[in-house]
Amino acid sequence: MEAPALPASLAVVPAGTGPGRVDRRAALLYAVWAGIAALAHGTGAVPLPSGAALILGLGSALTLGLFLALGRLPEAEQPSAALLAATQSLMGIVWSTLFAWYAAGSPAGAVLSVGMYLSAIALAVPAASLPVLARLMSAAALASIAVPLLHQGVLVQTGGSITAATLLPSLLPSLVLCVLLAAIYLAARTLASAREQLQARNAELQAGIERITRRAERDQLTNSYNRHSILEMVARERSRADRGGQDLCLCLLDIDHFKNMNDQYGHQTGDRILAAFARRVRGALRTMDTVNAAALPVTLNGDHSEPLTAGRSAFGRIGGEEFIVLLPETALRGALRGAERIRHAVVRRPFEGLHHVTVSIGIAEYRPGETVSSLIGRADEALYAAKHAGRNQVHCATTEGGRSAIVMPTFMKSTGP
Ligand code: GH3
Ligand code: MG
Ligand code: MG
Repeated sequence: MEAPALPASLAVVPAGTGPGRVDRRAALLYAVWAGIAALAHGTGAVPLPSGAALILGLGSALTLGLFLALGRLPEAEQPSAALLAATQSLMGIVWSTLFAWYAAGSPAGAVLSVGMYLSAIALAVPAASLPVLARLMSAAALASIAVPLLHQGVLVQTGGSITAATLLPSLLPSLVLCVLLAAIYLAARTLASAREQLQARNAELQAGIERITRRAERDQLTNSYNRHSILEMVARERSRADRGGQDLCLCLLDIDHFKNMNDQYGHQTGDRILAAFARRVRGALRTMDTVNAAALPVTLNGDHSEPLTAGRSAFGRIGGEEFIVLLPETALRGALRGAERIRHAVVRRPFEGLHHVTVSIGIAEYRPGETVSSLIGRADEALYAAKHAGRNQVHCATTEGGRSAIVMPTFMKSTGP
């Protein structure tokens, strides 16, 4: 049984993993800034050289179109969230820088470009890793400082002169930007470490859920499935057999004269014998499962050359010293072999070198349409027959049920004492 996964609301998605989705908010930001810049130019607040508005408008529209086209790619083919965020942010920095260059000398233009840089960085914050974010921030800060410096240089070349009175005010918006970027970086770093802690906590919670699920489905003494779990599996495999038409066998195991053992050696020894019994059964089933899994055909070509046990077995305690072994995709002949292997594993050598333990086993092969209780009932009839016939043996139920159970074929008995 698989442990339930942590609810999606509690699971933290690590930064930058998985395919990215083109963030439509990024497209909106581009459009908003293009609109503000056009308005500032139109009202004369930020005079732009002729042709600059066209270049900026076309350029940002092309960038927008590129990202929207990326958004139409199938999800699996889209770049990772981290790459997408970093690219969107970088393109934002490029267009902000171009705008800052064209608007150089205009105080309103400088304020707008600070806003544009901050918006471009904001695109990267949710998905980009801290080192990438730091690089993008450095690029934005350097570009924003370089633009006014270059502009002053151009002024010098065209006959002007640089003075502290002209240089400092032109650098002031860039300095403000640097301080704001540093503040955003610190906030992003705090968020990243909180996210890491949450991820670690989620991993712990998931491990805890798995532990609890495992404990809830197991019988503590024998570490086999408990009654509730194994009966649930029987019901599930029965439905699967009905749907797919596969074989299904159920074995009922009962330790022989266990009451006497308790009386003779005490209840605690009885408990240890139960636990050791379960280990031996599991060992026998493991080798069976391994052998059968190895024998699985590479392709099922429909010629029914499948192994006798194609599925994984399940073993559970239904009470006292009684157990169920469920053998999905197993026909009666395979189940007989398996049960005989279990019986042999139990009697092969004394438990703790002292106690001779034997087990009686009743097998029923699932008849399409029958109920779980009918299947278990028929296995119980076969078990009764095995007990009645002298114990330490395997019997199979007839398809009709009743006590005229089929006795284990003698050629198979020869494998055990
Ligand atoms: P049979 O061969 O006919 O199966 O005889 P039996 O003695 O095994 O069967 P019976 O049903 O008379 O006795 C089962 C005993 O299993 C009775 C009970 O004391 C013991 N038992 C049940 N649960 C536990 C357990 O958890 N620990 C121990 N030590 N004994 C248990
Ligand atoms: Mg019993
Ligand atoms: Mg018994």
